[in-house]
Amino acid sequence: MKILKFGGTSVGKPERMHSVAKLIMSGDETKLVILSALSGTTNSLVEIGQSLASGHKELAKSQIEKLRSHYDQFYQALVQTPEARKEALAIIDEHFEFLHIILKISYSEALNKDILAQGELLSTKLFRTYLKEQGVQATLIPALDFMSIDEQNEPEIPKIKKRLVTLLNQYPKEKLFITQGYICKNAKGEVDNLKRGGSDYTASLIGAALNATEIQIWTDIDGMHNNDPRIVEHTVAIHQLSFDEAAELAYFGAKILHPASIWPAQHFNIPVKLLNTMQPEAKGTVIMELPDGDGVKAIAAKDGITAIKIKSSRMLLAYGFLRKTFEVFEKYKTSIDMITTSEVAVSLTIDDITHLQGIQSDLEPFGSIEMDFDQTIISLVGNEIAATPAILKKVFDTLEPVPLRMISYGGSRHNISILIKGSQKKEALQLLNKGVFGLE
Ligand code: ADP
Ligand code: ASP
Ligand code: MG
Repeated sequence: MKILKFGGTSVGKPERMHSVAKLIMSGDETKLVILSALSGTTNSLVEIGQSLASGHKELAKSQIEKLRSHYDQFYQALVQTPEARKEALAIIDEHFEFLHIILKISYSEALNKDILAQGELLSTKLFRTYLKEQGVQATLIPALDFMSIDEQNEPEIPKIKKRLVTLLNQYPKEKLFITQGYICKNAKGEVDNLKRGGSDYTASLIGAALNATEIQIWTDIDGMHNNDPRIVEHTVAIHQLSFDEAAELAYFGAKILHPASIWPAQHFNIPVKLLNTMQPEAKGTVIMELPDGDGVKAIAAKDGITAIKIKSSRMLLAYGFLRKTFEVFEKYKTSIDMITTSEVAVSLTIDDITHLQGIQSDLEPFGSIEMDFDQTIISLVGNEIAATPAILKKVFDTLEPVPLRMISYGGSRHNISILIKGSQKKEALQLLNKGVFGLE
């Protein structure tokens, strides 16, 4: 079984959906295809939810209508026969009726998750309608029937596997399955999701659950690049990455992969390929167990970081101090990305500030607290880079014009992370592109 995930831009235009259909029809192996929502849809659904949360129903209504008109145009270019058009229209009617009903109900977080799920439900159903029009046999397996997370919002692979295998076994002759990325059920049985960009995670979880031969992530770029192509002009695709390298890049901001999307594949040693829907012949990136060569492979940046410094000459040297500090973050389920210590202070970074007030007041008894907002973590990733002094020298020489707030080095052998002001991210990424990769 092969797993193929197509992201928002890969299905965002009718002609792109047509290309996806062609791509999935080659080869004999059974395939499970995961689709994201059409590009822009989840953003629109987020906006609709925000309007409802703030009581702006009229605004939400107009946002729903605008999104609807996009789908009205989309389906007419997607399918041509009267039967297929009738079916596509019925799908769109059903999901937009649901959104209109929601306008009349009082807002809740759980309802918002239902709103967010509409994008993937629409894209997969419309795609199946197109395949049917083309005479292609495929079975749609609803993600909400098998994909689940527990009370800690962690996916439940054994349960996912059991349900999915039972579902697939109902169609022993089927060669092509389709399902939704991103959406799942939570421990309360409500509709939930795997966070933004979560369809990559769906693909990896399904790959792990089914022990797939390969997981393919199809997107709008020819693989993982050495630097963020949205910020730096000349970047190049990396042909091979180890699971550890890819996981670090995803976690530290390389948007091409959801931050958690590598571990399930890694755990079951399933190769992940990053491929370009618009350029299917391009080599892309293969992510597998073994690293390929040493040196810096890529740089990623994670924005919106808050640095917290706890200063205390009295307590810091006492044993148990770090444990107490970490317990505060554990209490608020907030993960720490970077940490540095000195004799009188400990600095750490978080990206989720939902519980910042609570964290701050719980830390105050330990010493004085300083906070810096809008920071960025720049991560350099590559096999053994943290064990290669020449690389360190090059990195710090290159970053001379940029003040460094924190440095994390030696935590793993393939990562060097540096905290800088968010406003200097672009400059830092550009300098490193030249200084480390020799790319202007
Ligand atoms: P999809 O909708 O297919 O999931 P995403 O927008 O989530 O696509 O991810 C692909 C985008 O990730 C690319 O278009 C690119 O702008 C961005 N990106 C950020 N960093 C990198 C990187 N290091 N390599 C490749 N793409 C990256
Ligand atoms: N549609 C969701 C999002 O935009 C999930 C995904 O595309 O991976 O975040
Ligand atoms: Mg994505």
